[in-house]
Amino acid sequence: MAEFELITRIRQRAATRDDVILGIGDDAALLQPPTGHQLVVAMDTLNAGVHFPRATAAADIGWKALAVNLSDLAAMGAEPAWCTLSLSLPESDEDWLDGFLDGFLELAAQHRVALVGGDTTRGPLSVCVTVHGFVEPGRALRRDAARVGDTVWVSGTLGDAAAALALLESGAIPAVDTLRQRLDRPTPRIALGRALSGLAHACIDVSDGLLADLDHVCEASGVGMRIALDRLPASDALGTACDDDARASFQASGGDDYELAFTAPTATDGEILAAAANAGVPVSRVGEVVVGERVRAFAADGCEWQPRHRGHIHFDG
Ligand code: ADP
Ligand code: MG
Repeated sequence: MAEFELITRIRQRAATRDDVILGIGDDAALLQPPTGHQLVVAMDTLNAGVHFPRATAAADIGWKALAVNLSDLAAMGAEPAWCTLSLSLPESDEDWLDGFLDGFLELAAQHRVALVGGDTTRGPLSVCVTVHGFVEPGRALRRDAARVGDTVWVSGTLGDAAAALALLESGAIPAVDTLRQRLDRPTPRIALGRALSGLAHACIDVSDGLLADLDHVCEASGVGMRIALDRLPASDALGTACDDDARASFQASGGDDYELAFTAPTATDGEILAAAANAGVPVSRVGEVVVGERVRAFAADGCEWQPRHRGHIHFDG
């Protein structure tokens, strides 16, 4: 299959929306943002062997490529609308492309996101996606908005994906497993991000590991945080899969969770819980924003916990 046949295949399957004036097929897409809103744009790349195990099913790669991008929009409190897709493929494999589109377009349909363009090249397997969404002026959830005295919250559960990856690397995990599902098919917390916009202070999605990501919030906001390790939410599957030490480490610095970590004034605890209930996602209070420079995590006995590493970084200087 030639490049243009691959693109035709993509175009035939991609859904559209009323605000897409011109989608796949011209030199560029023509899009109509809603008046009075700000455009929110994010881009994330997934490289084989770095961001997903090489043996990952094509449909899961497609899902995850869009999910990690939608997660960034969720963390801004934005409503997703459009995406573009740059595909670097080692060979022209229509079965792989069909599988990839199954996962990618399934998630796109769930959030009414239109694929409006992209690029298709030959090279090592790599998928780069940009997403575009909207937010009302002044309501975006920024990293620099945490304030001393805020409560620190986390959505869903932490550590499942990191545990799945560790088990996978040790050859111990069955092909179908709830932890594996969390690694391959993360859930972008779009509804929660929308519900928190204009309500929470700072927000970030947990992609590199909770402590590493919260450090970014601390740096941008000029604050510190105290996190209680025993308050970090864990799934039943994680509790069963590993001992307490490994579990704490997966939860605090594992990464690939794509949950939202956010801060909000203590006085809004009730509103936060109501917003989360509306969005259908559980949220947990895990710490507080304090005067300081970075995140400090404490075990139940009051001792400060020193992780072996705080999270994933690509270029370790
Ligand atoms: P150009 O040479 O002008 O960049 P391309 O041949 O790269 O054009 O792309 C033709 C059309 O197909 C464009 O509208 C482009 O956005 C779209 N397209 C190419 N690859 C993809 C892809 N992987 N996903 C979605 N749209 C794509
Ligand atoms: Mg091109």
